[in-house]
Amino acid sequence: MHGFPDDNTSLAELERVVLDYSAERMRLDPVPLDHSLTPEQLEEAAGRTITAEGMGGQAAMNLFAEVLAPACLSVDHPRYLSFIPCAPTEASAMFDLVVGASSIYAGSWLEGSGAVYAENQALRWICDLVGLPESSGGAFVPGGTIGNLSALVAARAKARHAAPAGQRPFRVATTDGAHSSIASACEVMDAELTPVTPDGRGRLTGERLREVLLEHGPETYFAVVATAGTTNFGIIDDLASVGEVCREFGIWFHVDGAYGGAGLAAPSIRHLYAGVEHCDSFIVDPHKWLFAPFDCCALIYRDPAAGRAAHTQHAGYLDVLTEASDWNPADFSVGLTRRARGLPFWFSLATHGTDAYATAVERTLEVAAFAEAEIASREELEIVGQRDLTVVVFRRRGWSAADYRAWSDRMLADEFAFIVPTTHAGETLARFAIVNPQTTTEDITAILDSMA
Ligand SMILES: *Cc1c(COP(=O)(O)O)cnc(C)c1O
Repeated sequence: MHGFPDDNTSLAELERVVLDYSAERMRLDPVPLDHSLTPEQLEEAAGRTITAEGMGGQAAMNLFAEVLAPACLSVDHPRYLSFIPCAPTEASAMFDLVVGASSIYAGSWLEGSGAVYAENQALRWICDLVGLPESSGGAFVPGGTIGNLSALVAARAKARHAAPAGQRPFRVATTDGAHSSIASACEVMDAELTPVTPDGRGRLTGERLREVLLEHGPETYFAVVATAGTTNFGIIDDLASVGEVCREFGIWFHVDGAYGGAGLAAPSIRHLYAGVEHCDSFIVDPHKWLFAPFDCCALIYRDPAAGRAAHTQHAGYLDVLTEASDWNPADFSVGLTRRARGLPFWFSLATHGTDAYATAVERTLEVAAFAEAEIASREELEIVGQRDLTVVVFRRRGWSAADYRAWSDRMLADEFAFIVPTTHAGETLARFAIVNPQTTTEDITAILDSMA
């Protein structure tokens, strides 16, 4: 089963089939949107795929190409505007193949120094965008959920280490616009989340934060989470005033930029992030708005030693790693074994240069601005909230929740677009999340026409 001898023609053929399929998928334009099937439909179409003898690579590949892949939505389709989509550059997608073929362990410097070196340069670019010092750093982790959890675990470890005997800070403050993964992290950590009422624009502000901290006792808090681009609306908290209050009370300031952090690359909106440079930790998912494939979150600490103190695993068989002073990415997050998941992102950055990233992010902002203006100009539609980034939320006057769902289902059944409704304050609404530079103004117009 292992090994690739010269005379193994069936393996050589399989190699060609797999690489050809991948190349063809990357070249597809347009990509098919596809649609999901029910378990019964897949049972009927694919049946039992794993047997004692195996079906052979060619047959398994055919099954994937003909049955399984078409039952997966293409997240890079230009009219896939649900949740937060993913639109990898061709270079990053190609390099994911290389990472898969290379058997790299990227949890330690000893085993993966070349990969870690390159990943760290990609992290450096992000640190510079945030405005963090040379000494800052971290690691690429699977996603924002693990990134947020890891940062909060480090924050708590630091706060408890510094607290006087008998005090165990256990609270986290944020708004209800924060991502669900913050509540999930607090659940995992048995920490208490205290909500701060946002201002009129839905933002966490220093003023309100301070009231809440004083009400409960600032010494009971180990972290404040600000969001740089909420998932549902793209709202950026007032980072400057929040950071100032955190510094006043000596509380860890975490900025969740899983989606919106990418906007730091766009000069036209950089001012919205003023104050982000004071964060103690920061995350951004390159698999969202920085054009890398799943799964990839950059987790960065102002003081990497705080991450290391909280996360380094100790075991006899790991001593050779932990006793060295090397940069071991596994030391910065929950988890040990690590794929070099930052390399596809690094390869694309190295290939295209950072200016191309600024251009691509600006492009999506232009299309979002177009969508906003187009919605405002249509009688039957109405913008909800204020748009900071590339999420556009709007109302179709006269529609019930069932109407939104039927519209969404119909578009997917036609493989025309994938746009699920959202809810806000009990109301069902339409929502676009535009992170794909290949989404055009014509796509937006066609979708809005379908709501007339
Ligand atoms: C998507 C998102 C997350 C979670 O990231 P995953 O990669 O899905 O785990 C966290 N915070 C925000 C603001 C997000 O948009």
